[in-house]
Amino acid sequence: MVAINTQTILITGASSGIGAACANTFARENPRLILAARRLEKLEQKAWELNKLHGAEVHLLQLDVCDRLAVESAINSLPEEWSEIDILVNNAGLSRGLDKLYEGDFQDWEEMIDTNIKGLLYLTRYIVPGMVKRGHGHIINIGSIAGHQTYPGGNVYCATKAAVKAISEGLKQDLLGTPIRVTSVDPGMVETEFSEVRFHGDTEKAKKVYQGLQPLTADDVADVVFFCATRPNHVNINEVILMPVDQA
Ligand code: NDP
Repeated sequence: MVAINTQTILITGASSGIGAACANTFARENPRLILAARRLEKLEQKAWELNKLHGAEVHLLQLDVCDRLAVESAINSLPEEWSEIDILVNNAGLSRGLDKLYEGDFQDWEEMIDTNIKGLLYLTRYIVPGMVKRGHGHIINIGSIAGHQTYPGGNVYCATKAAVKAISEGLKQDLLGTPIRVTSVDPGMVETEFSEVRFHGDTEKAKKVYQGLQPLTADDVADVVFFCATRPNHVNINEVILMPVDQA
């Protein structure tokens, strides 16, 4: 296992769900954490918890990953001691609606495409050059089973996660010959705020999604992310699919 206690890890979407769980899991090993999301108060609460529990050093970025110039400015203006990112966890993402494609909402489509594809691309584009220069780094993208199989009404969300799969594979190709690693962690159903966001805050609809099966927890996914990040430097885990036992 590679020690990560001297590394700087940037996690997007760290204000809830899988991103917050990754922050908890990594913090136990004492790396330096940069936590990014739009909801600053949630990030502040998480930073306070991690500092109290583990003495974690945390830097916060209130950031909308869809805003390219904001991403550029946030990364370029990191204080010097936080500027060398060793591990990037591209986790920020969302799904909106569950409509037939020909009845889909344009704003929902744009939000999914901007966050899940463009946001991930922007972070990657601004952070990976530093990794290449230093000859060290690991990009872990949170994809989804939705990138491998489409489900009714999943159309555009599934397309964004298929794009994440292609981007992870493409980046791995582009980085061949460097020691930089690229991993895609692709979960099935995980119980987080995801479902509530999908249905624009309709909690009743959101809960129904999990009826009749035991979903993964955010911690289950964070354990896998941590495992991938701590393999010996010559080992690249390209892709992991993890599913609830109950989900086909
Ligand atoms: P949550 O809704 O709990 O977390 C999503 C996170 O993304 C939040 O921290 C949110 O923070 C952040 N986020 C959303 N939009 C933006 C934005 N524009 N800029 C910055 N941050 C943003 O859901 P999950 O933890 O479940 O989702 C995490 C990832 O896992 C996503 O990529 C999702 O597609 C993927 N996934 C989820 C599955 C599930 O069943 N839950 C299954 C497979 C994959 P904030 O609102 O504060 O900005």
